[in-house]
Amino acid sequence: MAEKMLQFVRLQQRQPEKRDAAERRGDWGEVYRAYAAEAAQQQASRCSQCGVPFCQVHCPLNNNIPDWLKLTAEGRLEEAYEVASATNTFPEICGRVCPQDRLCEGNCVIEKGFESVTIGAVEKFITDTAWEKGWVKPPAAVRERAESIGIIGAGPAGLAAAERLRTLGYQVTVYDRHDRAGGLMIYGIPNFKLEKDVVLRRAAQFEQGGIAFRLNVAVGRDVTLGELRQRHDALLVATGVYKARDIACPGAGLPGVVAALDYLIASNRKGLGDAVPEFDSGALDARGRHVVVVGGGDTAMDCVRTAVRQGAASVTCLYRRDKANMPGSMREVKNAEEEGVRFEWLAAPEAFTGTDRVEAVRAQRMHLGLPDATGRQQVEPIPGAHFTLEADLVIKALGFDPEDLPALFNEPALAVTRWGTLKVDHRTMMTALPGVFAAGDIVRGASLVVWGIRDGRDAAEQMHLYLQARAEAPAMAAE
Ligand code: FAD
Ligand code: SF4
Ligand code: SF4
Repeated sequence: MAEKMLQFVRLQQRQPEKRDAAERRGDWGEVYRAYAAEAAQQQASRCSQCGVPFCQVHCPLNNNIPDWLKLTAEGRLEEAYEVASATNTFPEICGRVCPQDRLCEGNCVIEKGFESVTIGAVEKFITDTAWEKGWVKPPAAVRERAESIGIIGAGPAGLAAAERLRTLGYQVTVYDRHDRAGGLMIYGIPNFKLEKDVVLRRAAQFEQGGIAFRLNVAVGRDVTLGELRQRHDALLVATGVYKARDIACPGAGLPGVVAALDYLIASNRKGLGDAVPEFDSGALDARGRHVVVVGGGDTAMDCVRTAVRQGAASVTCLYRRDKANMPGSMREVKNAEEEGVRFEWLAAPEAFTGTDRVEAVRAQRMHLGLPDATGRQQVEPIPGAHFTLEADLVIKALGFDPEDLPALFNEPALAVTRWGTLKVDHRTMMTALPGVFAAGDIVRGASLVVWGIRDGRDAAEQMHLYLQARAEAPAMAAE
């Protein structure tokens, strides 16, 4: 092992500099500045090169983290990029948006007694450098194959599969109902976590590599799944989950009570320079408003922080459990607190009140009771404990469920689980329809970008095996 490594005993952990909260509130730039080359090299050298690297075990992509840290510490960045990109389609995106505290960094062994290696920030540094130096290349087919593959959904799962399949030489077409590729990476996750150029430059390279994009095409509306099955030799459904969970309380239909994704899409579109009438009319703009966001996940955190940047008069997050039980990443909660968001823990909305539009939220204080069958403490109301918050914009961020795909696609044979996610054979990733595979949130439920990438890559491998087997035994595979 190089003497260069194991520097954690000497060098302290240093994440890239975080921009001051007052500065962040006034713009849409990312929160963390980039590492300078020397800092990245030093931080990488803190790794102790574990024989059994728990960071790698807990990375959904099983990235070869110790190797690219060592290469970075030695200044061999082009090789570091080769290693990082061998297992990850979008290392620079994961470096920005993975909840590293729960994945790689949270399981780094030097966390015990010292502080973990800054794995995500180094991964971002390596890949941003690779882009700057021109080392990132469009997918190149090893040899062209005649078979054609259709991918429905241009989110991380669909794009990761597209890249692998195109590299294997397949003719790949990606369909998406939005006008830009990227899925939630482009229209869900805000700019201050993931600047949009980072996503757009990848999509542009994929196009250069021969992946065809059919945007503004909603499967089920503009084309049927049956038609796509006829058009392609295999299909991948990677449509994500988009049915917003609702709140059943009085006043939920009042103007000014809006869904999180509508709000975030409008903000992201505005940032991309699009005409967004529902933003310009003020309906989805928090400027000058008293904003209440209901929910405690990452989507809720993105909404509160977007509202701060839009110039809201006040921003309050209402969550029915306490801080320790929030599903969102603690890093994002901390960022929101620094930026001036007020949290009302253990509080749930009872009613939205107002005459022509919402004016206030009446809320009920809760406490955590006994654990349920899953071991999670149940939330119970405290009798007589109510309070009211002024609110002229309420954003509902309670999570997402799958749309009814069998109905939307008019394919009753497309089997779903009791949660509405697509049922797949977990070995082959094929749905109940022969030749139709599925990956990402539509299989796992609302998850993470990094899991979408993993699933997309795995699905690509399975589709390749399926098409190879079919080519070798066409009679057996005939439907
Ligand atoms: P998606 O990214 O949802 O992509 C699906 C694509 O399919 C979309 O482009 C959609 O337009 C298209 N589509 C759907 N139906 C059709 C149809 N019928 N016809 C044609 N196209 C269709 N994860 C993280 O790791 N870190 C984060 O910080 C983070 N922040 C998040 C913030 C928000 C607000 C949200 C909502 C999610 C966040 N996530 C985050 C989760 C992450 O974005 C998702 O887990 C991931 O994008 C799922 O990838 P996917 O490819 O399965 O689906
Ligand atoms: Fe960590 Fe995510 Fe990178 Fe894996 S992909 S090493 S979990 S930041
Ligand atoms: Fe290095 Fe930490 Fe991974 Fe060990 S667990 S290889 S110290 S990054």
